[in-house]
Amino acid sequence: MSAPAYTDLYLWINGQKLSGGGRPESAVINPFDGSTLGQMPHATAQDLQAALGSADQGFKTWRAVPAWERAAVIERAVAWLRERSEQLATLLTLEVGKPLAEARMELGLTFESMIWCAEEAKRIYGRTLEPRIPHGRAVVTREPVGPVAAFAPWNVPALLTGRKIAAALAAGCSMVIKPSEETPATCLLIAEAFAAAGLPAGVLNVVLGDPDFISRTLLASRIIRKVSFTGPEPVGRQLAKLAADNITPITMELGGHAPVIVCDDADIDAAVAASVPNKFFNAGASCIAPTRFYVQDSVFDRFVAAFVQGAQSLKMGSGFDPETRMGPLANARRLAAMERLIADAVARGSKLETGGARVKGDGFFWAPTVLTNVPEDADIMNHEPFGPVATISRFSTLDEAIEKANRLPFGLGAYAFTRSLQRAHQLADRIESGMVGINTYYFGMPEGPFGGVKQSGYGSENGTEGIDAYLVTKFVHMV
Ligand code: NAD
Repeated sequence: MSAPAYTDLYLWINGQKLSGGGRPESAVINPFDGSTLGQMPHATAQDLQAALGSADQGFKTWRAVPAWERAAVIERAVAWLRERSEQLATLLTLEVGKPLAEARMELGLTFESMIWCAEEAKRIYGRTLEPRIPHGRAVVTREPVGPVAAFAPWNVPALLTGRKIAAALAAGCSMVIKPSEETPATCLLIAEAFAAAGLPAGVLNVVLGDPDFISRTLLASRIIRKVSFTGPEPVGRQLAKLAADNITPITMELGGHAPVIVCDDADIDAAVAASVPNKFFNAGASCIAPTRFYVQDSVFDRFVAAFVQGAQSLKMGSGFDPETRMGPLANARRLAAMERLIADAVARGSKLETGGARVKGDGFFWAPTVLTNVPEDADIMNHEPFGPVATISRFSTLDEAIEKANRLPFGLGAYAFTRSLQRAHQLADRIESGMVGINTYYFGMPEGPFGGVKQSGYGSENGTEGIDAYLVTKFVHMV
């Protein structure tokens, strides 16, 4: 079977496709077999200044477009993308390695999120106040913050570019977005969809290339009035410092290290049935992937046995094979991280229940892995693995489990399984996390705010908060 077609890569600035011209290039790699999918042009300093100028002009145009028209443009772009769903899904599978079914699921979430943003554009309300001066008017308005610099990661590249773009455009902002250098293709198709939908040239600009160079250049510019970043915590720290120089607000989602508390009164079969696919979804490369399972003593052995059996039954392979349940890791860095984290855990006395090794071949495959008896000071209990590995530990009392869940400086996704309403309330109240799932892993609703606390970042995407992030408030008092 011949490999499905990839796509041409280019910068998208002021409605122009730019590539070649002596720009440096780097390869985009297919994680299934290590082959080269395509060559990605890198933005030069001149390109970035052009993108900034374009976003500056684009903002002046777009902010004047009424909300209902902005919504209509987003809706038309989504309709254009829906017609090309299979092409988009194919690109996601080629670049990330994820099974086609997961790619289609990601696109479903992307479209829902973009449509939510379009609808929210119509509900950007201000308010009126009682004036202090007779016959006066006191009005609070909400305005677009200005041109946005956005940076998206490689794990869910359609969703994390699509919802950033749609939220900013819904609010009336323009944008310069940099998708990950490993997954540029879907972002370019989204930009093409907006062009086809009638978005004026220059409102949305896509730049590719060296992330450090691009983020330093964009954030140094006073044209940029807002930053949105999803990705690794050290990079978020660096961008927050750069943004501080111009007092530019930033929304950051930096990953987590999700705990799962399984109580002895839980429906264990249902907990395992939900946990295995969610752990190994996207080969574990999800910021809300469950990782630290804390299971109460009396149900520990049963949970581990069923979880291990579930992990061993997952079929690995090409994302284009409908039987495949888990594809490769997205890049060679994740393989090296798995090797290091699992070797450290085993050296510290952890028990390897299953997996723990790279699968032979050219692709970046790593066997679904389960560790028990992992000491809390092992690296894997303190650094997000972002790969197909679960740690399962025991607990006796709920207080002990909550303390362990809250031990880390992260708080993005967290989960618990219990049939006790009293415990459910306690867990929901006491877990320090931006999102808590009780008897569910589902946070995929665009109307629900998605974001973390502590060092998992600040601000939210989705929900009314997701549009709010691109607005500023103005108070007007007149007589
Ligand atoms: P990495 O350090 O190699 O970073 C790669 C990602 O960060 C790419 O998307 C890249 O474009 C971006 N990046 C790097 N330097 C940047 C800069 N100076 N400015 C702007 N963007 C920059 O990390 P990795 O190996 O890709 O991932 C490792 C860790 O990152 C994971 O363990 C996970 O914790 C985190 N991560 C989180 C998310 C998320 O959804 N929150 C997504 C991807 C990765």
